[in-house]
Amino acid sequence: AAKEQGRNQFCEFAPTMEQEAQNRRLLLRDLQQGLDEGEFALHYQPIVEMRSGRTVKAEALLRWNQPVRGMVSPADFIALAEESGLIVPLGDWVMREAACQLAQWREEIAPAFRLSVNVSPVQLNSSGHCVQAWVAHLQDLSLPGSALVAEITERVLLEADKDTDARLQTLQGAGIQLALDDFGTGYSSLSYLKRFDIDYIKIDRSFVSLLSQGNEDATLCQAIIAMAHQLGICVVAEGVETREQHDILQRAGCDYGQGYWYGRPMPAQELTERLRAQHRAPQPAPAEHG
Ligand code: C2E
Ligand code: MG
Ligand code: MG
Ligand code: MG
Repeated sequence: AAKEQGRNQFCEFAPTMEQEAQNRRLLLRDLQQGLDEGEFALHYQPIVEMRSGRTVKAEALLRWNQPVRGMVSPADFIALAEESGLIVPLGDWVMREAACQLAQWREEIAPAFRLSVNVSPVQLNSSGHCVQAWVAHLQDLSLPGSALVAEITERVLLEADKDTDARLQTLQGAGIQLALDDFGTGYSSLSYLKRFDIDYIKIDRSFVSLLSQGNEDATLCQAIIAMAHQLGICVVAEGVETREQHDILQRAGCDYGQGYWYGRPMPAQELTERLRAQHRAPQPAPAEHG
């Protein structure tokens, strides 16, 4: 009977696993093709300085509009791009595209504007090889390194190999700042802050959303903010969706906010208009409704 059962299980699961593998092969093929065909785009989400209410930075977020699949979320393809190594050329494209757009915004509208770009651990280990090329590209565009923030996660250290430290040092040596993304979701965060000279931490959305449950229990966020400031690190709150969350974070001394309350990720043109309007306005614009 056990043998019978085992065989049945095998029959039930085998096609699923095979289907799964096939789906991944097809997705990888489409990803590769999408890169060749220029199907990727960047959207930009405002990062607002809480003190002034002004959009002083943005995060570049990858969007893939696949002819048959439609819009595919990064959550559905970044992991495969990482496993397959495709994140290396894809990430290089992101860097080039983001830097060109940034140069345009700084030149035409906001000279001090900054962009945050997500960098995968795979791009920083020995499979990646283009950190030096990113720096050269910034120089070609006459952009100071300080105009760019590289967002890394704690996974970077987890997956670090002998080249990772050197690559981070190359970035930092060029003036590029580091942000620790999704802060609080990993572990031993404090040692990461010390090991890398981190400039920003981004409080993960899961903590910020707790602030919306009516109890105003801001203790955790307050503690993170106070600790970061003690260490000379600035704080960005991710996933701010309500005025209440914004108010609590602002009272706690949070430096920057990002989330639907201020604006969703948007095409470059839309952010251009927003920056123009802000530039014209003598007073800081109040936060928009998300
Ligand atoms: P992340 O870097 O933590 O980016 C923030 C994510 O939160 C974005 O999802 C953004 O759209 C979403 N978000 C922002 N504000 C709110 C809010 O108020 N409420 C809610 N519910 N969500 C909000 P997105 O664009 O789907 O990206 C997901 C993840 O994919 C990113 O998380 C990042 O880890 C990865 N990713 C995106 N673009 C790139 C890229 O160019 N390179 C790499 N390596 N990873 C990327
Ligand atoms: Mg990020
Ligand atoms: Mg995040
Ligand atoms: Mg620093």
